[in-house]
Amino acid sequence: MTDKNREIIFLEPELKENVWGGNRLVTEFHYRDEGDGIGECWGISAHPHGDCKIAEGTWKGKTLSWLYREHRELFGNVKAPEFPLLVKIIDAKEKLSIQVHPDDAYAKEHENGSLGKTECWYVLDCPEDAELVIGHNAKTREELADMVHAGRYEELIRRVPVKKGDCVQIIPGTIHAITPGMLILETQQSSDVTYRVYDYGRLVNGKPRPIHVEQSIEVTNVPDLSDKTGIKHFANLSPNELHELVSCEFYRMWKLDVDGSFEMEQSHPFLLVSVLSGEGRLDGRPIHKGMHMILPDGYGNVYVNGRVELMLTTVNCTK
Ligand code: ZN
Repeated sequence: MTDKNREIIFLEPELKENVWGGNRLVTEFHYRDEGDGIGECWGISAHPHGDCKIAEGTWKGKTLSWLYREHRELFGNVKAPEFPLLVKIIDAKEKLSIQVHPDDAYAKEHENGSLGKTECWYVLDCPEDAELVIGHNAKTREELADMVHAGRYEELIRRVPVKKGDCVQIIPGTIHAITPGMLILETQQSSDVTYRVYDYGRLVNGKPRPIHVEQSIEVTNVPDLSDKTGIKHFANLSPNELHELVSCEFYRMWKLDVDGSFEMEQSHPFLLVSVLSGEGRLDGRPIHKGMHMILPDGYGNVYVNGRVELMLTTVNCTK
């Protein structure tokens, strides 16, 4: 191992303005001095629609996609041709359209070889009585098609109560949307393929946005069990302990609340670290709420001190 494997890769986030975005990424996360309608911070991304730059050190100014291409050894020489994960923080002030994503096989065939999308939400904050949209009530594909064609979306979509600290796994084919007031950390496959199922009949610049009717009917899982299988509640996690939130074929995620100090080993191909709140030090380097970084392959011992909430993510495949 070289010194490079001990170098923390700090990233500069990519911000996205959206009609539905709020101002919490500015007022609470301080990603910018001012601004409104910033819905997304792509904290760890090598996707062409938002490729993060390395903030400092040996590769300062290079993009994450470049680093992944040129120095795969820092990422455990994983075989995925593109950097496989994308971590975002999303602040929804308004309703987002209701969507469904294809799986890898469908996206490969119908979306120019793109990846499908499995995603996971960790709810950082939401209103008391918040509900999210997950799954649907149709029992057969015919019933799904009938309801879609008749515009009976309010009957079709399923709403489920959600609380701060919930973890929601959205597998391909699951109809889903976050709702106003939700602030989430989203971990996903690095893909941007989305089919819009329903947009609440809204007009944007005087026109409804396109709805992907046929694709939605084709890729949606029927019947849908996501409200039973996809939502896990995590509240009051004990500090200074790794808590696994989810493990699927694409990623594994842990929540770690450090209060005082904590030591662990980075023995994964690479480890993504997002600071959800607080401040402290990671191997002596100051870290604070909103920072995103990568600990490379062979990093070894990690020492965190202070009072910080961290989300740790790695790949779960050697494909
Ligand atoms: Zn989605």
